[in-house]
Amino acid sequence: DAPLLEVDDLYVEFRTRDGVAKVLNGVSYHVDAGETLAVLGESGSGKSVTAQAVMGILDEPPAAVTGGEIRYHGEDLLKVSAQRRSDVRAEGIAMIFQDALSALNPVYTVGFQIEEQLRVRLGMSRQEARKRAIALLDLVRIPNAARRVRQYPHEFSGGMRQRAMIAMSLALDPEVLIADEPTTALDVTVQAQIMDLLKEIQTERRMGLILITHDLGVVAEVADRIAVMYAGRIVEYADAVSLYRRPGHPYTAALMESLPRLDLKGHELKTIKGLPPSLLAIPPGCPFHPRCAMAQDRCRTEVPAEYRLGLGRTSRCHFAEEMVGGV
Ligand code: SF4
Ligand code: MG
Repeated sequence: DAPLLEVDDLYVEFRTRDGVAKVLNGVSYHVDAGETLAVLGESGSGKSVTAQAVMGILDEPPAAVTGGEIRYHGEDLLKVSAQRRSDVRAEGIAMIFQDALSALNPVYTVGFQIEEQLRVRLGMSRQEARKRAIALLDLVRIPNAARRVRQYPHEFSGGMRQRAMIAMSLALDPEVLIADEPTTALDVTVQAQIMDLLKEIQTERRMGLILITHDLGVVAEVADRIAVMYAGRIVEYADAVSLYRRPGHPYTAALMESLPRLDLKGHELKTIKGLPPSLLAIPPGCPFHPRCAMAQDRCRTEVPAEYRLGLGRTSRCHFAEEMVGGV
């Protein structure tokens, strides 16, 4: 069987006044039903752009998909009709964004915004749609859903707005849910609650969940697999347990060292020195070499291949095998 959703060797460029920015340079990942893939990276690494390409909201200039496929149940979404594309986007693959306030329309009630999709897409009556909207708000644990359904987004707290966004994204029962930094705007306690909620719903509904984040800490407990992105490439792809035990790429290791650790008292937090490269001028060789503590001469000239480390694990570092212990 074809994977539920598969991004295969995807290339995207942004044609800007200053030149061509190579924002995705051969990105591949997949997610299956009941599985959580975390896509991790700093801003500008291409993690959101990949999701936008999947959602089909990147098809217009200055963005251009210049290579690769995005397959949903084996069907390449880059080749189907606009109508088919929009149906898949509405019913098969849903996305929630970091900023729930700007994603919700301030002039309509939360209920109306959920019900609209149910009426338009599923032909439900107003009454049916209202009932379903209340059930959805209930599902995401918004208290007094029957009253809340009639309120406007500004009457909700930040955490509740994010829950309402999740409810809205679930209205048409998607098979894949993409959450782009869904908790970044929220405080730590609420972050954890939203993550737990997403994980629970994902498990219950056997959805494929793609969690996009810059924060390795947020996804530690929920991800099955992790794709680490840098300069528009996946530099490490591994199951979460192996990756946490022993990162297979110096960039992943650096991200881990920049995490606060409760178990290591007096552990000094390191930040990764330097900045991600401009996508208008990606460094030759390994794009991470200007920031990498392990960099050798060959790193400055030779682009690392995708090394296979077993169990579907890959790393784009010349020293990947040494990193994981010479396997
Ligand atoms: Fe560092 Fe070289 Fe590995 Fe790149 S290939 S991550 S520069 S050691
Ligand atoms: Mg982003």
